[in-house]
Amino acid sequence: MNDILNGKVVLVTGASSGIGEATVLALSAEGTRVAAGARRGDRLESLARKAPGEVLTLDLDVTDQESVRAAVAATVERFGALDVLVNNAGVMLSGPIAGADTTEWTRMVETNLLGSMHTVHAALPHLLEAKGIVVQVSSTSGRIASAYNGVYAATKFGVNAFSEALRQEVTAQGVRVVIIEPGFVATELAGHITDPTMRAAAGDMAASMRTLQPGDIADAVVYAVTQPEHVAVNEILIRPTDQT
Ligand code: NDP
Repeated sequence: MNDILNGKVVLVTGASSGIGEATVLALSAEGTRVAAGARRGDRLESLARKAPGEVLTLDLDVTDQESVRAAVAATVERFGALDVLVNNAGVMLSGPIAGADTTEWTRMVETNLLGSMHTVHAALPHLLEAKGIVVQVSSTSGRIASAYNGVYAATKFGVNAFSEALRQEVTAQGVRVVIIEPGFVATELAGHITDPTMRAAAGDMAASMRTLQPGDIADAVVYAVTQPEHVAVNEILIRPTDQT
């Protein structure tokens, strides 16, 4: 355990599975008090029982600005501050652009991009007060777009752009902004893809390599947020060794 995090207050969005869940457990083990938000409350309750430290579960839908503001307010009301935001909630609904169900585009933009931006907006006054840290869970798709992932990549490129602008605006006030860009991680993410060909391709990709595990990304988050105050880890790109 690193003393730097002891007693700090963390809000993790998309905490009910995958990377968010692993990050809650890892940061809880570091002595933080964690607010864990997502829509599946049952999953959050069992996570709270597993975590070594105090976990506040929050019914959070990042596409609903009121829900985002309420989650931040509840975190600060319960713990008295907000030191670290892990902005992680996301969906990936891969598919070709031609003939796409554009409601899936709206869902990705509203969740991955606008949801992430609104969460920063709501949390920022508290992070400025605490000289805190924003961890933005982006993707390799935030650096390289690929066929059949155009809209998902657009949301993650957007997250990276917003994060860099944010970094320039707040670094002089002591707030650090970290972009984490995972490659293929074994989570539920691809299970929501509705296009059967795309979902099968994601399964084949997973079977073809030693994928990252959610805990590998949680370790990167812990590394980034346990640096001394003069060290700003701006970006971590982390792929499975087997991923080209
Ligand atoms: P999961 O599907 O396991 O987790 C996604 C999380 O986001 C869930 O906790 C889900 O909770 C939450 N979520 C989705 N929509 C909303 C919403 N509207 N409001 C609040 N929470 C929401 O996938 P991952 O752990 O893989 O994904 C986490 C992040 O990592 C995402 O941003 C993803 O883009 C990114 N990422 C993942 C990679 C991978 O290979 N797995 C690679 C690169 C980046 P609930 O449904 O309960 O609300």
